[in-house]
Amino acid sequence: MFTKLSESVAIIDTQALDAPNVVAAYAVKGKETALIDMGYRSSAEVVLRDLAENGINPDYLLPTHVHLDHCGSCGTLAKKFTNASIRVHPKGEPHLVDPSRLWKGASELFGSELVRRYGRPEPIARRRVHVAVDGDVIDLGRGVTLRTVWTPGHASHHISYEWEDHKAFFTGDAVGICFPKFPVLFPTTPPTSFDLEQTLSSLERIRGSSPAAFYTPHYGVVRNAMRWITGNVNSLQHWLKTIRLMKEAGWSEEQMSNTLTDEIAVAMHRPASELPDYLRVPIKISLLGFLQYLSR
Ligand SMILES: [Zn+2]
Repeated sequence: MFTKLSESVAIIDTQALDAPNVVAAYAVKGKETALIDMGYRSSAEVVLRDLAENGINPDYLLPTHVHLDHCGSCGTLAKKFTNASIRVHPKGEPHLVDPSRLWKGASELFGSELVRRYGRPEPIARRRVHVAVDGDVIDLGRGVTLRTVWTPGHASHHISYEWEDHKAFFTGDAVGICFPKFPVLFPTTPPTSFDLEQTLSSLERIRGSSPAAFYTPHYGVVRNAMRWITGNVNSLQHWLKTIRLMKEAGWSEEQMSNTLTDEIAVAMHRPASELPDYLRVPIKISLLGFLQYLSR
């Protein structure tokens, strides 16, 4: 579903695995149009339909990082929009050209059944993939400019885009997850390259621009951006302390994951049994990323 948020920005609900308000893509329009993140490969038809219905042929495809929920459909869209310029962090580039390693890693992490539903990304010809350099400015015309801001942490190749005139960031996963139906903020810290120090310094880097708003993929627009950053730092520190204690006490991954899930359910005033998979899965994956980080 395509919703115009302003003259320049629209949010596309990619209907990830048929769930609304879980994975967003953003269309940013000046004279030219950029699509920031594009959802799972299995959401490509939804995104293509929304773009077609609104007469949009993106000039730029800008995945914030190569994970399947952000960049899975990039290859499929690249085939359709043959003139679109595709930009990604240099460390992400090999995965767009040959997604097989990414696919293998995701299959091991999520299980073959789940990744089958996410959909396998299509490869993109190397000549079409451009490197997004930190500080690069994409001028879309009509006063809309996007500044490339490297924000490693969630992944080492993660980037965000600052919409300079509006003091807004298209954050990708540089900030945590908070679904509208379950409004509690929690970290998104997956294997294999989550790094806590990098995440914190990326948050400080974003804070340094005094942003007013965040356009987040999971999910929607955040208007109190500075408080949101503080909330992110607090939730990361809380997880660090909690996971360390549970690890030292020799708990199993399942016990730890259940404890974190229960804690989030309590904060939501909901029984844990009511939490959908799109919430349970990222909690567990974030725990695994944290454990891997602590073991390094
Ligand atoms: Zn994500």
